[in-house]
Amino acid sequence: MTTTETPSPLTGGRLTVDLGALVDNWRACAALAGPAETAGVVKADAYGCGADRVGPALAAAGCRTFFVAVPAEGIALRRVLPEAAIYVLGGFSDGAGAAYVAHRLRPVLGATEEVEAWLAETGDDGGPVALHVDTGMNRLGLSPAEAAAIATDTALLRRLSPALLMSHLAAADDPRHPLTARQIDTFRAVRALYPTVPASLANSASLLSRPETRHDLVRPGIAVYGGRSVADRAPLRSVVTVEGHVVQVRPVAPEDTVGYGAAFVARRPGRIALVSLGYADGYPRRAFEAGAEVAIEGRRAPLAGRISMDLLAVDVTDLPAGVARRGALVELYGPTIPVDEVANRCGTIGYELLTVTGRRLERRYV
Ligand SMILES: *Cc1c(COP(=O)(O)O)cnc(C)c1O
Repeated sequence: MTTTETPSPLTGGRLTVDLGALVDNWRACAALAGPAETAGVVKADAYGCGADRVGPALAAAGCRTFFVAVPAEGIALRRVLPEAAIYVLGGFSDGAGAAYVAHRLRPVLGATEEVEAWLAETGDDGGPVALHVDTGMNRLGLSPAEAAAIATDTALLRRLSPALLMSHLAAADDPRHPLTARQIDTFRAVRALYPTVPASLANSASLLSRPETRHDLVRPGIAVYGGRSVADRAPLRSVVTVEGHVVQVRPVAPEDTVGYGAAFVARRPGRIALVSLGYADGYPRRAFEAGAEVAIEGRRAPLAGRISMDLLAVDVTDLPAGVARRGALVELYGPTIPVDEVANRCGTIGYELLTVTGRRLERRYV
């Protein structure tokens, strides 16, 4: 990926999405999953990467089935993907039926009331649905008993036409967690009641670490976006790079403090680079206290003081003056600083950082 083009002087920084790396990651997942189908999970604006660009890129690579969280995301995705199967994960809300039908969205039904509401609003013409079974996460999903009751109700099944039976794993990122094996067993038992319906259980973590979860369709999200999904396992290719530019470089003397709360105290004569990005861009406010680092031209440097709304400061004393100069690009995360490194130091996960970053930044695709 080239990051050398001049960024716009009109924004504080830029967010670069490497669509080539993203498609490579999806293909790597598909190669692992085969012969199972590999879906595209593009909820939360494709983990912050832009569903209007990610959806068509994955479709061009052969992806035919997509998952979003809410119907509005599905409606937007339908505009750029006229042919794809689009499932809406978030549960069916009363009054949404007409929009599902108009945009050919497929509801993921996760409660008996949702099944009833769906049929009441759409009659028998709503098109295919997914049935979501809760196998132990206690989030959305039919209980195994409810799923068993539906499986024996042939009249109801004929009206519903389920095209997918799915469940979601709660702890697959931790290979030692005992819940995963219990969920796998419960799902297998429910699946036996729906012998003709394609089944889907795997997220990124279990696709990579538990072959028995692949079934007919896998749903990798974070792995495709270059984040870590299984503890202790390297992520696939980095996809998202967030960079700001240096607005000023200023000297500091010993005992000078930098930023709000005077949280950074200079211990030696040094140089501080001010970068035009802050917590309003989604970078964690506690990154300095958490010990996060940034990089300029691939060289790491520590933060210097608390992250402001629109600015952050970097201690560039140990970088050559020709590197840490006005206008230089500063990587907050990307190929040098993994997104999970920043996230984990700051007490969160790559998923959260990816989905909250970049509203105000120049966005570019390579
Ligand atoms: C978000 C989500 C996924 C993808 O999970 P990753 O951990 O990002 O791979 C799969 N299935 C469901 C139901 C989800 O909500």
